[in-house]
Amino acid sequence: MSHDGDGVGRYSGLVVFVPMTAVGDVIEAKIVKMLKNRAYAIIARIITPSPHRAQNDCPVFSRCGGCSLRHIEYHHELSVKSGWVVENIKRIGGVKDFTLEPPLFSPLVSRYRNKAQYPVRRVDGKIRAGFFRGRSHGLVPVDDCLLQPEFFGDITAEVIRFAEEYSIEPYDEATGAGILRHIFIRHAEASNETMVCLVVNKGGLPHKEELAAALHSRCRTVKTVLVNENADNTNVIFGKNTRVVSGSGYITDKLAGVRVRLSVRSFYQVNRAAAEILYEASLLYASPQKTDVLLDLYCGAGTIGLSMAHAVKEVIGVELVADAVRDAEATARLNGIQNARFIHADAALEADALTQKGVRPDIVIVDPPRKGLQENLPASIAQLAPHKLVYISCNPATLARDIERLCSLGFKLIKARAVDLFPRTAHVEAIALLQLDLPCVK
Ligand code: SAH
Repeated sequence: MSHDGDGVGRYSGLVVFVPMTAVGDVIEAKIVKMLKNRAYAIIARIITPSPHRAQNDCPVFSRCGGCSLRHIEYHHELSVKSGWVVENIKRIGGVKDFTLEPPLFSPLVSRYRNKAQYPVRRVDGKIRAGFFRGRSHGLVPVDDCLLQPEFFGDITAEVIRFAEEYSIEPYDEATGAGILRHIFIRHAEASNETMVCLVVNKGGLPHKEELAAALHSRCRTVKTVLVNENADNTNVIFGKNTRVVSGSGYITDKLAGVRVRLSVRSFYQVNRAAAEILYEASLLYASPQKTDVLLDLYCGAGTIGLSMAHAVKEVIGVELVADAVRDAEATARLNGIQNARFIHADAALEADALTQKGVRPDIVIVDPPRKGLQENLPASIAQLAPHKLVYISCNPATLARDIERLCSLGFKLIKARAVDLFPRTAHVEAIALLQLDLPCVK
C-alpha cells in the first residue's frame, strides 16, 4: 500500500496505483492515467477480496479528499501505518538499529475530530458546504462527515439556511466575488462548548449579529461566534483580521489533565482522546526529572509542555502564532502553573538565541508542521545539547529526513512508534526518542 493509502500493483513491470484497494485483493483494474514510470487505475472488478477488507460506510469516500482507508479493517490500518513509519525511518532516515514499539490506536475511529473547516460554494444552483476533492478546488458537498460530530452538520445547515434567507452569496474563486468562504467549527469536548468562525470576503458579513443569535438559539453548544476576513485569492483559509461577534472568542477544553483555553487561530490537536495517548507516550519518552528544564519547540497552545510542567523544574515554549502564545499563557494561569513561560518567536531563531543566553534544556520536544524541522534547527538543537530529544511528527517522511540530519550531528535514535491520531485517513502521527552523547549507529 502506498503512503497515500492507494493499493500498489504491477502490470508487466509497470507500477500501478489503485485507490480503495487492499493488500491481498485480486482485482481487474482500468488504467485511467499513464505516466512514464507508473500508472493510476480504478477498480473495474474485484476478483478475490482481501481478508483485510471492511465495508465502506461513507457515501463520499475517496471523493472528498479526506479518508483513504475506510475500506480496510482498523487493526490492519494500524499495522499499515506502523509500516509507513518504520519504512521511512529505515529508507530515508538510514537508521536500522532502533526499537520500533507497537502502534498506539485511536479510542475513536469515527467522529473523533473536534475541528472542521468547510468551504462554502454554490453547487448546482444551491449554497452548499463540504470539502474540496483531493488536489482540486471542486467542492464535494457533505452534509454529515463521519469524522466529525453529527452536530457539526446541524451548524453548517443553519449557516446555509441563514445565507439562503438573507441572500448571502458564497465565494466564487473564479471571480473573487461572493461573501461566505468557509465555516470553521471547533468543539471543546470537556466543556461542551463550540466555537464557530465564518470566514468571509472583504466587506465583512451582513446580518452577523442575527446569524450569531440564530446559531446560539438553534445549536445549543455554540458559545462564541467570530468573523474572519480573507480577501485574498489563496487556498490559505484565514485572513489577518478576526472579530468576535458573540461570546468571549474562546472555548475551554481539558487535555491530559490541563484546562486549555483555545482561540480560533491556535493549533489544537483534532483528536483529543488520541492526543491524550500521544502525550502520555511522549511523557514516557521524555521521562523527566524534577530538576529538568524542558524546551517545547513549535508548542502551539502550549499543551504538551504544560501537561508535563508538574514533572519538571521549568517549561519554555516557543511558538510562531501570537494568539497561540496568548492561549498558552492564559492556560498556564488557568491551571495555576507557575514554572512555564512562552516565547513568541520562530523556533529556529529562538533555539539559537537560547543557546546564546546559556540556556541548556535537559529535554527538547519538537512538534513541527508537516514540512518538518527548519533546515538549521537540527544543528541548533545539537548546540543546545539536551539529554533527550522527543520528536513528535505528523509526517513520517520529514521525520525520517530529520532523523538522518540529527544522527549526523551525534544523536542516536533509540525508539519510535506510530500513534494514530487520524483514523481512516492516510495521515499518521509518530513519536521518536533521540539521545545525544552516544555514537550514532546506522
Ligand atoms: N505541540 C502543539 C502544536 C503542534 S502543531 C500541540 O501538540 O498542540 C505545530 C505548531 O508549530 C503550530 O502551532 C504552528 O503555528 C507552529 N509553527 C510553525 N512554524 C513555526 C516556526 N517556524 N517557529 C515556531 N512555531 C512554528
